[in-house]
Formats: sequence, structure tokens, C-alpha cells
Amino acid sequence: MRTSFRYRLYPTRQQTRAMTQMLDTHRHLYNRALAERKDAWEQEQRSVRYGDQSAQLKVERTTNPYLAQTNFTSCQQTLRRLDKTFQAFFRRVQCGETAGYPRFKGRDRFDTVDFVVGDGSKISGNRVYFQHIGNVRIVLHRPINGMIKTLSFTRRADHWYLIVSCDRGGPAPVHHDGPAVGIDVGLEKFATLSTGEYIANPRFFRRDEQVLARAQRRMSKYAKGTPERGYHKRIVRRTHERIANRRKDFAHKLSRRLVSEFGLIVFEDLTITRMIKNHALAKSIADASWNQLMRYTQYKAEGAGALCIQIDPRGTSQRCSACNAVVRKDLSIRVHQCPSCGLEIDRDLNAALNIVGVGLHSLELAPRSRCL
Ligand SMILES: [Zn+2]
Repeated sequence: MRTSFRYRLYPTRQQTRAMTQMLDTHRHLYNRALAERKDAWEQEQRSVRYGDQSAQLKVERTTNPYLAQTNFTSCQQTLRRLDKTFQAFFRRVQCGETAGYPRFKGRDRFDTVDFVVGDGSKISGNRVYFQHIGNVRIVLHRPINGMIKTLSFTRRADHWYLIVSCDRGGPAPVHHDGPAVGIDVGLEKFATLSTGEYIANPRFFRRDEQVLARAQRRMSKYAKGTPERGYHKRIVRRTHERIANRRKDFAHKLSRRLVSEFGLIVFEDLTITRMIKNHALAKSIADASWNQLMRYTQYKAEGAGALCIQIDPRGTSQRCSACNAVVRKDLSIRVHQCPSCGLEIDRDLNAALNIVGVGLHSLELAPRSRCL
């Protein structure tokens, strides 16, 4: 099982320059490799593999001084990242989804270099060593848990971070026997649990949104390429970073709680129903947070011996969780009132109960009649 930890890095000015340069070298490598794949496909319908590009890299290093000044395995990691992007792209195409073709990375869009630990990188004390960069100071605010596999540096706004990716092998944890829970997500409340608990939208969602909109408005007043624009762009980026951190923290806490309390956690698969139409920004922020919560819960569940699954949400809001009758209602109707059995509960709670029902059924843990 893979887990990762993130720590703040404090590079010197010289190290910052070297890291920025290295990002650029990797970005060029990524973009060139992407162009090669693109051309091969467009001109000869031929797909280029990771193995081919990795072999070429070896040759290229003998002539390109920037590549020569960059750790070989870390370059391979970048080529692998591109390969993964392509695999995900083909997977989406196969599933019939509209998939965007992998894109070239602009200077702002490429922010991470991965090192395999022991090959041009290692941690000792409160320093991390990267080949061609040196020993960079880190603040290890929490212990690293597991066997370190990769060390990456990443740039977010004006800050640098170290990402430590660990393998936490060892014996598989015993399955825990906590109850099952269904989770319905929405814009009004962040989530509704089938236990009857509501998780409100954190106040900072709304506030952050406003702060970001204001910063973006200010930036857009200045013409591209002017120093004022650059200044405000940095503020926008920093705001993004702060928002991301806060959301991450929120998702970490909630997912930790879920996997410790429940043995089975059932989410609705948000990629199936593209949720409610609402104003774009609020939705995109919420969307990202739900996805994050699901991802975190998924991987934390593995370690906690809990099971986390996603189900097809169709029908979960219209069906009665008690008698299975279909009770049509549009979004403005917040209460589920069943004419067949008389059940009267909050619509989101009804949906959450159906979600856990479908989840249990899909695992063959409940009779069919109860759920769909
Ligand atoms: Zn009913």
C-alpha cells in the first residue's frame, strides 16, 4: 500500500535556482516526449511506448547538456508519468467518455520532479539530498511512516514541498467490523450520512471562493505581461494553494473519522450522474472536495481494514428507502414523503439510506427487495 507525506522545503536561493532549472528541463523532456507520441500517432497511427522513449533518453543525454545535468532515473520517472497520462486517456476513450488529449505543459503547469530514493536522493536528519541540487532543509512536522520509495520536490505558488511516497507493506490489517454507512453528497450540505448525521459545508468554502474571485478580478485588470499582472498572478496562485491546503486538511480529517468508525463506506459514483446544475464555481469547489474525500477514504480504508465502494447512484434519490416505491420529486423538494408507506424523512437522508442499501446489495449482504 502506498501513502505519501508532504513537508515544506526551505531551499537556499541557489538551490531554488537549480530546482527551477530542473523543473524546466523535465518539462521540456515531457513536452518533447508528448510531441513524439502525438506525431507518431497522427502521421503513422503508431503508438510510442515508454520503453522506446526511455531508450532514447539515454542517447539524448550524451548531447543535451541540460539532460546530462539531471538524474537519469528521475527523467525516466517523468517519462513514466507521461505514459500514465496516456494510459488514463485511452482508458477514458474506451469507456466512451469524452477524454481530453494529453496536453503540453506550460511553465506554470509543470511543478514536480520525482526521484527514486537511493538513486540521486536521500533523507538524512532535517535535510533531503537531491543530485545536482544539494542538501535542502526540510521541516519534518510529522514522522515518515513506512518504507520510502520516491522523494519528489514540488512547487506550489512560491513554496516548495517534499513529497515522500512510502510503501506500507507488512501484514494486511484485519477487517474491522464497524457498521455500514451510505454517504450522499450535495451542495446544500457537504454530506449526509445514512446514520442521520449531517456534515455541513465548511464555512471556508464560501469565504475562499470570494477571496479567490476578488484576486482573479484584480489580476484581470492588468494587461498580460505587465509586472502588476505578474504580482497579482502570484497572489491568485497563493490563494489557490491556501484553498487547496485547507480542503485537503478537511478531507483528511473526515476520511480518517469515516474509516475508523465504519466497516463499509458506500459513496455514490459521481462520474455517473454529473450532479446538480448550480453556479459553476461553488460546484467545482465542492466537486473537487467530494472527489478528494472519496480518494482519501479509499486509501485510508485499505490501511484500516475497512471497505470503501462506489455505487451507481441512479434512482437513489427517487426511491423510498423503506418500501422501495418510486416517489418522484424535483430538487426543490427537500423532504421525502412516501404515499405508499408513509415514511417522511429528509430527502438526502433517504438517498443516503438507499446508497448504503445498494452498497450492501452489491456485496450480497442484503436481500434484493430492500434495495433496487
Ligand atoms: Zn415508502
